[in-house]
This record gives sequence, C-alpha cells and structure tokens, in this order.
Amino acid sequence: NEERKRKQQYANLDRYALMEKLGEGAFSVVHKARDLQTGELVAVKVIKKFQLDEKQQAAVLKEVTILRQMDHPNIVKFLNFIECDEHYYIVQELVSGGEIFAEIVKFTYLSEDLSRHIIIQVARAIRYLHEEVGVVHRDIKPENMLFEPIDLVPSKHGAKLRASDDPNTKLDEGQMQYGVGGGGIGVVKLADFGLSKQIWESNTKTPCGTVGYTAPEIVRDERYSKEVDMWAIGCVLYTLLCGFPPFYDERIETLTEKVARAQYTFLSPWWDEISIGAKKCVRNLLTLDPRKRYTIDDFLNDPWILEFDAKYAASA
Ligand code: ADP
Ligand code: MG
Repeated sequence: NEERKRKQQYANLDRYALMEKLGEGAFSVVHKARDLQTGELVAVKVIKKFQLDEKQQAAVLKEVTILRQMDHPNIVKFLNFIECDEHYYIVQELVSGGEIFAEIVKFTYLSEDLSRHIIIQVARAIRYLHEEVGVVHRDIKPENMLFEPIDLVPSKHGAKLRASDDPNTKLDEGQMQYGVGGGGIGVVKLADFGLSKQIWESNTKTPCGTVGYTAPEIVRDERYSKEVDMWAIGCVLYTLLCGFPPFYDERIETLTEKVARAQYTFLSPWWDEISIGAKKCVRNLLTLDPRKRYTIDDFLNDPWILEFDAKYAASA
C-alpha cells in the first residue's frame, strides 16, 4: 500500500515538466513548469526534505494548509501539493514578471504613483489575510512581492498602457509619464507563506468563557502580531520611494538597536522631492508603539493612499 502511494505521488509529479529556475530561497528552488494536463505554465516550489528538521517539515505542511485557504487576486494561487521521498512540491500559478525587488534594483527607486500602485495591492492582500483569513504573513519584503507585467504601447508621449478596465492593471498618470521605467507593473501578488502564522481570534474561534483563562502574553502576542506586517509595509514603502531601506547597518547589533528604537530618517537629498503626504504615511507605519501604528484599515484610508482614487475620479 505504501509502495502504491509512493508510485502514485511520482505519477502525480509527471504531470509537470520542470523548466528554468525562477528564484530561490533558503530551503527551496522555484521552477517554471508546464502543466501537461492543462498546457498552462505554472511555478513549482521544490523543497528538499533532508535539509529540514521535523519542525521545519511541519512548517511546510502548514504553509500548504494556509495557501490552500487563500482566494484573493493579490495572493499567488495555490494549485497542487505533492510529497515524494526526498522533496515537497508546491505548485502555484506562475507570476511572470518576477520580484518587485528586481524592479527596485533596475530603476533605483520608483515614482510616488508607482509605489502607491504597488503598495495598495500588497495592502489589499494583507487586509484579506488579517481580516478574513486570520493570518499574519510575517515575511513581507520586495523579494516576496511578485508582479504580472503589463504591455506598454509606445506612443508619442512615451509608453502608454494598453487599455484595460481592471483597476489593478490600470496605470496612473505618473506611471504613464515615466513610461517603461515607471510602468510595466500590473497586478502585484504576495508570495511565500513559509513564516505565516494563523491568528487566534478570541471572538470567532474560541468559545466564550474560556477567554478568561487565556494568559496575557498570548493575548498580547495576538494583539501585536498583525502589527508586524504593518511595520514591514512601512519598510517596503520607504524602500520603494527612495531605493534603500529605512534601517541599515553592517553590524547586526547596531541594526537591531536602530530598529528597536525606530531610529530612521528621511535622508537628504533622496527624500527632498518626496511629498509630505508620503512621508506622513510612512511615519504612521514605522511607529515604535504597535498600538499607535497604522492598522491595515488606517493605511488604506490614509490621504496619500486615497490620492490614487481621487486622481481616477478626476480623470475618468
Ligand atoms: P522561500 O520561502 O524559499 O523564500 P519563495 O516562495 O519566496 O520561497 O520563492 C522564492 C523565489 O522564487 C521568489 O522570491 C520568486 O523569485 C520566485 N517565485 C516564487 N513563487 C513564484 C511564482 N508563483 N511565480 C513566479 N516566481 C515565483
Ligand atoms: Mg521568499
């Protein structure tokens, strides 16, 4: 029976023809692949079992459980999971543009409009995770933000977006102005749920009455856990706007200290031209006290974020 199951798993794997490497992390290599059953291109995350201890293997299975539950346009879609003797395979939809990280490297920094276009989509994914699924991501960074490219059609005034009604793939004026350097990024999708953690929600998942016995550190940890994602969004937004992260030091001790004190500045000359609204928004995310930090709803209602909608209303 074991043997039959094993053979079946390998047969399941035959469905995917692995192609070139798309990226890699600490424990995994991600390949482009063709699903021979549907003919479609997919992404297969290959994880070597022998590199993982039991706890880490359990974490992979948890990542799969979490991914399975997800259904949101800004989160990579889970397609299949196969376990063989030596590897785990997580099959996902292919997000063909690659990492936002590479775009920052390529363009040094992004315009305010393009930064907003990206961060809003990440925020929608986070709102879904925090409010509907009850999961904290815990590893939001430009390497884990993938994008679908959009066609830019050359025009007299530079590159222009191909017409689309999908608000996620609409470019705003800033992006059109900057042409390919500022555009080309359509739908942004959050990947990598390896570190994410299910939130325990007192009012939905635990029967009333037992709440009174819950230790304060559990409740506290709970209350603060969503805030770590908001901090990370602040770090990402800062980096998109100027091209370097808010906290950096070659010595890990110094870096830790800077983070612990929320010690960062809007360095001149890089931040000189960036709007006060953008800076205020970043400041409300990189707030030391997690209780005073923006929640996901605060963030999505921030005036700088809402400028996006205002622009659309005006130009529509
Ligand atoms: P790890 O947990 O090892 O960091 P990730 O899930 O973040 O693994 O994947 C590693 C890299 O592989 C990503 O940073 C990205 O470059 C690429 N990648 C992952 N998933 C996809 C996908 N669905 N489509 C395209 N590229 C992907
Ligand atoms: Mg990753």
